[in-house]
Amino acid sequence: MYFASDNSGPVHPQVLAALTEANHGYQMAYGADHLMNEVRDQIRGIFEAPGAAVYLVATGTAANSLALATLSKPWETVFCSPVAHIHEDECNAPEFYSGAKLTLVPGGDKMSPQALTKSIQQEENRGVHGPQRGPISITQVTERGSVYSLAELRALCDVAKTYDLPVHLDGARFSNALVSLNCSPAEMTWKAGVDVVSFGGTKNGLLGVEAVIFFDESKAWEFELRRKRGAHLFSKHRYLSAQMAAYLQDDLWLESARKANANAARLAEGLHAAGAEFLHEPQANMIFAGFPRSQHKRLHEAGAIYHLWGDTLEGEDNDELLACRLVCDWSIGTDQIDRFLSLL
Ligand SMILES: *Cc1c(COP(=O)(O)O)cnc(C)c1O
Repeated sequence: MYFASDNSGPVHPQVLAALTEANHGYQMAYGADHLMNEVRDQIRGIFEAPGAAVYLVATGTAANSLALATLSKPWETVFCSPVAHIHEDECNAPEFYSGAKLTLVPGGDKMSPQALTKSIQQEENRGVHGPQRGPISITQVTERGSVYSLAELRALCDVAKTYDLPVHLDGARFSNALVSLNCSPAEMTWKAGVDVVSFGGTKNGLLGVEAVIFFDESKAWEFELRRKRGAHLFSKHRYLSAQMAAYLQDDLWLESARKANANAARLAEGLHAAGAEFLHEPQANMIFAGFPRSQHKRLHEAGAIYHLWGDTLEGEDNDELLACRLVCDWSIGTDQIDRFLSLL
């Protein structure tokens, strides 16, 4: 009963098989392998973006940081939510790579166009002394398991365009959001006004690959230089390409995301029936729920693994509601979910 994170699960067997498959003979290094050509073509096709520049890196932090560094100047500021992964969970890597600072747009998991507009207007009014306006970074699925609708995404991108600012999408859980919205990758990105995407793979069954996709090819060379200078250009690159190729083959990425979301929906339904309170509406594969300490203790003793959200199991009041985060990946068995729910 492992619900701690979607990067705690195994690598999909088809991905490991693809690595073994790629592991013979010789290939050009540093991204000149022929598998990368296939991956680039496939991603361009999937995103309906024939001119897109596509790169692979091994972590989401690298994808976000290098993308944002390419979109910004050191004297600019990046606008994001206060719970953004780039703010809370990347040890200042985006600031380190870009030299820019982050401006937190007041609000919750989702930025509102009004709050974003206000934050943008508050910057760049101090001439040479203050930060200059820079990119907007949006997380889809958000860090609280909610999903921006296409209208919400478009509204944020419209604000960005009003001020001529570029938009980055942190899609560590891109596939989970896509199957939740049931839209096309183009609709969730460039058609809405997104300029660059961190297209996640690791949380959805890869060993460690995320793609960075630029819809504006003019940024491509700068990104390449930054990736190399930032020590994220893999020499044996074919093993990154092979993972991404397996991910895209026969829609494994969508199939895995559908499984993860269905697992979370099953879990959420059971939690709801058991009277749990939801802190955020679960829309993809993450659930934030509260239920009594006594139930947490029972689950904990039976071996369930998940994070308590700012709470601890310690304490005498067994009726007290404790919040937790439960994440499902593609690999969790329904038997595990059902066991969890029956213990609950
Ligand atoms: C997991 C995650 C990342 C990437 O994290 P890494 O540990 O660097 O791979 C980025 N953004 C969000 C929203 C995430 O959940």
